Amino acid sequence: MHSHHSHSVDYVAHGVDSLEDIVARAVKMQFKLYCLTEHMPRLDPKYLYPEEITGKSDIDLKTLQMKFRGFLKHASEIKKRDYSTKFIIGTEVEGCDTRHIAYAKELMGQNSEVLQFCIGSMHHVNGIPIDFNQEEWLKALEVAGNNLKQLVIDYFEQQFIMISELKPLVVGHFDLFRLYCSKDVFIDTNSGQRVEHTHPAALCAAEASFIDLWPEVKSLALRNIKFIASYGGLIEINTSGLRKKLRDPYPGREFAILAKSVEGTRFVLSDDAHGVAHVGVCYNEALAYIDKVIQLDRLHFIEDTSGNIGVNSISVEDLKSQPFWNRYNAVLQGDSR
Ligand SMILES: [Zn+2]
Ligand SMILES: [Zn+2]
Repeated sequence: MHSHHSHSVDYVAHGVDSLEDIVARAVKMQFKLYCLTEHMPRLDPKYLYPEEITGKSDIDLKTLQMKFRGFLKHASEIKKRDYSTKFIIGTEVEGCDTRHIAYAKELMGQNSEVLQFCIGSMHHVNGIPIDFNQEEWLKALEVAGNNLKQLVIDYFEQQFIMISELKPLVVGHFDLFRLYCSKDVFIDTNSGQRVEHTHPAALCAAEASFIDLWPEVKSLALRNIKFIASYGGLIEINTSGLRKKLRDPYPGREFAILAKSVEGTRFVLSDDAHGVAHVGVCYNEALAYIDKVIQLDRLHFIEDTSGNIGVNSISVEDLKSQPFWNRYNAVLQGDSR
């Protein structure tokens, strides 16, 4: 079993458990591959999360730099240990603007002996975080003219700039904008404009099928998916969506099925853990999703062969019969005792 994406409280403010504890859990669960992928530092105080702000932004930005250096050192030490789990080190890139995209390239170059790949992610739209809380997400919606269609268009346009520039091996949580599509937010199905729930064309945002409603969104998503396939990028099925009580992991079924229809699309699996309880979280549900909803035959994973990163795959049938699942259930039951 594999996970291509994780964090820890040692190196990110919203983490839950230490990197050592997360690593120990991944080993205990008998993961074959577990990727350690802390966030790259952000350069501009406007992208700091509320929980990172102390009032002295130069110090806050320096803290991010210091933590990232600490992560590189610590993860390198872990990698050298003789575990049955293989650890691959990467970084989760912030695709928020061109300056950060250029900086991501620079970081990958400067630390090429440690960082073996990157996850290309978008956490901000028009400078506002869309994954922090409902309030911030609503602010992002407001900046997009209180129009959900526009928010999603802006997200995919910025994602395209990031993937074009960086060609990240893994594309993180492809449709993260879904996280706070709340059932309390209503939109006009035609225009995407936020409306009162009494509006005749009102639809609650949590139920919006972006692809069916808006052909522009579909074509931008399709463009991005085709581009990812063209350079050999991998789309992660990220179970943090399920952990955060969405119906599906990222990408949700409409985008996952759209991606599957594109020749060359390859999916990998990630838990995006921030704590011990997140390691392998909802992998049983994700397996059902992969098997029954997207109906994939194969799942891909990255591999480190003498320092070179490659991509391999396993059939979903073989994945289902891995001894991992016996261990998985035992470890989860151990948790609830
Ligand atoms: Zn992320
Ligand atoms: Zn992450």
